[in-house]
Amino acid sequence: MALERGMIHVYTGNGKGKTSAALGLCLRAVGRGLRCCFIQFIKGVPTGEVEAAKYLPNFEFYQTGRPGYDFRVTPEDYERAQEGFKLACMKAEEFDVLVLDEINVAVHLGLLEVSQVVSFVKGKPTELELILTGRYAKPEVIELADYVTYFQLLKHPYYQGLKARKGIDY
Ligand code: ATP
Ligand code: MG
Repeated sequence: MALERGMIHVYTGNGKGKTSAALGLCLRAVGRGLRCCFIQFIKGVPTGEVEAAKYLPNFEFYQTGRPGYDFRVTPEDYERAQEGFKLACMKAEEFDVLVLDEINVAVHLGLLEVSQVVSFVKGKPTELELILTGRYAKPEVIELADYVTYFQLLKHPYYQGLKARKGIDY
């Protein structure tokens, strides 16, 4: 099964739920026989979704970030982001749904050019459903999207000093 006309989603903002929403969309899509590819930029730490992906058919998951990433950008982070982008270009041709998780952050940090992302979005296969997530989405990218959702932080336990919880936050 393939979509007739794939659309473009942007999940951005500082509230929790962007990556989870993209994963939820894939769960639904896989249930309907769509093939999904999920490419995570920046992050390189083991997450629950890496494990869960192993149980789902028609769902490929890639992390392209550096395991020890700590918000200080190194040349390796740049190379990894560019490799991730190349992978996205390849997978766009093979899948029905493609998630580029945290790609907005990669652009924000200067690891990818916004022009690269804009050309990719504009040139995507017609049938491909494309989801771009992460804080700081650029207006140029928002402009091209059909669905744009801003996740607004109201409360998060982090500000009570609580650490990220395994299985819930990662
Ligand atoms: P999730 O992966 O849980 O769907 P997200 O993709 O919206 O969250 P990210 O910016 O990718 O959020 O951050 C991922 C991690 O940071 C998660 O552990 C999440 O709980 C936590 N987090 C999300 N928003 C905030 C925030 N405003 N302050 C602190 N931590 C946050
Ligand atoms: Mg996220």
